[in-house]
Amino acid sequence: MGTTPDGRRQFASDNYAGICPEAWEAMARANAGHVQSYGDDPWTARAADLLRELFETDCEVFFVFNGTAANSLALASMCQSYHSIVCSETAHVETDECGAPEFFSNGTKVLTAAGKLGKIDPDAVDWAVRRRTDIHYPKPRVVSVTQATELGTVYGPDELKAIWARAKSHQLRIHMDGARFANAVASLGCSPKEITWQAGVDVLCFGGTKNGMAVGDAVVFFDRNLAREFDYRCKQAGQLSSKMRFLAAPWVGMLEGGAWLRHAAHANAMAELLHGLVSAIPGVEIRYPRQANSIFLALAPAVRDAMHARGWHFYDFIGWGGARLMCSWDTTEADVRAFARDLAEVSAGVAGG
Ligand SMILES: *Cc1c(COP(=O)(O)O)cnc(C)c1O
Repeated sequence: MGTTPDGRRQFASDNYAGICPEAWEAMARANAGHVQSYGDDPWTARAADLLRELFETDCEVFFVFNGTAANSLALASMCQSYHSIVCSETAHVETDECGAPEFFSNGTKVLTAAGKLGKIDPDAVDWAVRRRTDIHYPKPRVVSVTQATELGTVYGPDELKAIWARAKSHQLRIHMDGARFANAVASLGCSPKEITWQAGVDVLCFGGTKNGMAVGDAVVFFDRNLAREFDYRCKQAGQLSSKMRFLAAPWVGMLEGGAWLRHAAHANAMAELLHGLVSAIPGVEIRYPRQANSIFLALAPAVRDAMHARGWHFYDFIGWGGARLMCSWDTTEADVRAFARDLAEVSAGVAGG
């Protein structure tokens, strides 16, 4: 996609954005003096305690460098190599992790399940288990849900509980890819526990990067038994940070004053504004309901190319295609209006000429 020479804020991804002030400031504080290495430090302990407070339960917490590692290692901790993981066909673990879940689990197969709008249909969980029960089929062991989904939709507590009911009936565990968990909480206005352990989630990969950190995802085990020897798994995979305080401090900075939720709510609000402005443009079609911090547009190729020529970056290969526009913690109203103005001009030009 090239670079963004004018330095403008883009809608290509929430990880185009920089580090938010709260995370940055906490890293600066963590940078004063020496502390213990490999996670034996006060920042890591504090961040884990804050996550336990946030989820209102005594969960086990680990910090790794990114979401692919978090998902892959969390899934591997629940599976034997002959098991399988049931997820949506648009799930990041299926389409965007280069086979890492299979690799780190020594061959656990990812099976896709049907559903609408990036979600898994509870009936599809049944089907994945029941279609074959013989020895030749990779035995389903985990359901993996993404919250918010890759299509920018959000599972409500009842939808998660419906999946849980099916999962429980087949003794399946539940993994949640929460790369945009904060956006989902902000969208639902619920407490974090309602869409995690109170809805049957065994392990959550809680993303920090897309919410304004430089790096670092938290792996949160609600079933502490699953966390047994997870520290060894992280170390072997190259995910044990020697200067762990720099992965942990941003969590402290963002959890202490509630910035994690404020930033997510802001990104969601900017997506809502963008949705409103572009849906008024003739010829622009919005593909999925706007629930988190993204919208997807069906754009004519000429319109897409003209927007790229005006310096706007966005992807059109994510999920089931369409131009994905993603808002971040630092997206401004002016950014949104500038994009919408260009899209209106370009669309009128293409239609007229
Ligand atoms: C971004 C993202 C991840 C994590 O990706 P990394 O690049 O490995 O940090 C995981 N799941 C979803 C749905 C994502 O959007």
